[in-house]
Amino acid sequence: MAGATAPLAPGATIGILGGGQLGRMLALAAAQFGYKTHVLCPEADSPASHVATNTTRAEYTDEKALAAFAKAVDVVTYEFENVPAATAAFLEKHTTVRPSWRALEIAQDRAKEKTFFTGIGVGTPPWRGVNTEAELARAVAEIGTPCVLKTARLGYDGKGQAKILKPQDTATAWAAIVGAKAKPHPDGGPFAVLEGFVNFACEISVIVARGVDGTVKAFEPAENVHTNHILDTSTVPARVDAGAIERAMAATSLAAAKLDLVGLLAVEFFVTKRGDILANEMAPRPHNSGHWTMDACATDQFQQMVRAVCGLPLVEPSRFANVTMKNLIGDDVNQLSAYLADPHAHVHLYGKAEARPGRKMGHVNVLRLQKG
Ligand code: AMP
Repeated sequence: MAGATAPLAPGATIGILGGGQLGRMLALAAAQFGYKTHVLCPEADSPASHVATNTTRAEYTDEKALAAFAKAVDVVTYEFENVPAATAAFLEKHTTVRPSWRALEIAQDRAKEKTFFTGIGVGTPPWRGVNTEAELARAVAEIGTPCVLKTARLGYDGKGQAKILKPQDTATAWAAIVGAKAKPHPDGGPFAVLEGFVNFACEISVIVARGVDGTVKAFEPAENVHTNHILDTSTVPARVDAGAIERAMAATSLAAAKLDLVGLLAVEFFVTKRGDILANEMAPRPHNSGHWTMDACATDQFQQMVRAVCGLPLVEPSRFANVTMKNLIGDDVNQLSAYLADPHAHVHLYGKAEARPGRKMGHVNVLRLQKG
């Protein structure tokens, strides 16, 4: 359905696909602007359902539930990018979906993502699409080692990835990826991608919001540190030169414009020792590496997203403090009392009952205020 451009009035309802912590924080921001929220997700007791106005518990493929959901809301957005293609296509026939299905389709597939970045002049690590072990062996010979094999679809937090240190590791890596049970691509694209391993100086990410009128506002890049493939900290300002910061913000803004996206776009980059930026992946939704904006900026990623999807004007996302966002993963949540005693530590918990290893329980934004 063609997207309406008039702003949604307070009291309108934002439909959110997905019930995780990103949906929870989005629902909190929506409430601040006077909007109601309606979450659709298959899980019981989801973090977003604790704060949303309504929740429909249904599978993403349940067309009866989706039709009723579309009727009950004024606009639909999503908090994770593995929404099935058919779900987004179905909803777009019934209501306005922001960002549109096209952005989601590209972000769901590493090969499409890299092709897209190359097409708009943004560099990526060297890569090849591979469908068989023989193709993988050829790609390893072309790209060289070390390199990393990734499923094209449905990978996250390092899942569905295998590092190849020497050509003899090829068979093991292929078996590991097939063992990750990734499904072949529905439209015939490559099953996996092989990437050259980048000996990066650091990793950064940029989040931009793009409004219905095409205005783009970019947050500054955060410098990200991963532990066991899961984001551990995001620090701003990033310790990279001004040129890399500018290029990363410009590349992300360009990507959002080229996708004609309304909402948020996050892009993760490797920064090489020479200061070049290489796009790793993108997500058309709020991003964990943007949580620092909640306590250190004039506006935050969730507020900008609400503004964008509801047709409100975007504002300049100026930063007023240096900040480190620390994820509370699994047992990290036991350090809560120390953070609670620190007036510069802003604690955000996601309402998850059980602190399993690797599970994101919350995050803390520790501010380093600038004097004067
Ligand atoms: P991804 O799921 O692609 O974001 O990968 C998770 C993490 O693995 C990244 O944030 C990097 O720390 C590391 N990684 C992934 N791909 C590469 C690469 N081509 N070169 C170096 N490190 C990588």
